[in-house]
Amino acid sequence: MSENGVLSKYWITELTRPAFEDWLKNEENPVVIIGIGSIEQHGPHLPLGMDSLAVKARIHKVASRTNSVCVHPCWPGYSPHHMGFAGTITFSWETLMGVLMDTIGSLAYHGVKRFVLMNGHGGNTATMNLVAQTAKREFDVMIAVPVGPGGTPLAKKQTERQQRYWDVHSGTNETSTAQVLFPELLEMWRLPEDWKPSNNMTKELKDMRNPDRDDWEVVSQVFGACAEPDTDDFTTDGIYGWDSPLDADPEEAAARIEEQVEFIADFIRRWKKIPTPPAFE
Ligand SMILES: [Zn+2]
Repeated sequence: MSENGVLSKYWITELTRPAFEDWLKNEENPVVIIGIGSIEQHGPHLPLGMDSLAVKARIHKVASRTNSVCVHPCWPGYSPHHMGFAGTITFSWETLMGVLMDTIGSLAYHGVKRFVLMNGHGGNTATMNLVAQTAKREFDVMIAVPVGPGGTPLAKKQTERQQRYWDVHSGTNETSTAQVLFPELLEMWRLPEDWKPSNNMTKELKDMRNPDRDDWEVVSQVFGACAEPDTDDFTTDGIYGWDSPLDADPEEAAARIEEQVEFIADFIRRWKKIPTPPAFE
């Protein structure tokens, strides 16, 4: 529903055509938020749809705070590195790019000028950024990929975990997020009580993940160069890092999600006050 441009539903799939038209006509500088994630293995305890489910929750929260329309155009993302585990569905990067370009192109055709892209899966990042660059040029639209906040105590705590324990997939951070957004889908009982990391990287490589090292900037990149291409090359349970998912902290995750959602909402509110530059008309 939309009345005088004010939405009461935010998913494009739940709006009627007249409601969408009303919003587009009456909302000043309307923004469409597009979220992508993945369908891929997330260890023994998290749902395969983890990244898409999480991004769906986030884009809907942002949309409802900014009177924006949100779109989740596809469930899978670019996940070839997880194909060694059952249940993973990967698009080629070309398919993912095509889905995003066609989604933006369609809405641009109807007159939408501003898009926010939000990503829930690291494997999509390069494709999404290429889409942001390409679609802007091809469709004369503004495309933003806002990310933040990076400097808060919570952001620093989670970044520290990523740096020190390579907590980037199915570890403490992600498990905490799932506990907040869809606790009913977790199967924590599948993790042994004395869970130990299955990551089999050498000690030399693991020792590089120490942000206290003087040479952290360079060795963290050496680590990246040595990380094997497929998840099943270096873990047997699909969890990347060596901090425990059993240490998940839903209170921390809830506070982090709130500050991230509010950051993007703040971005959109400020952006909408800026008139569309002539080159995009
Ligand atoms: Zn994930």
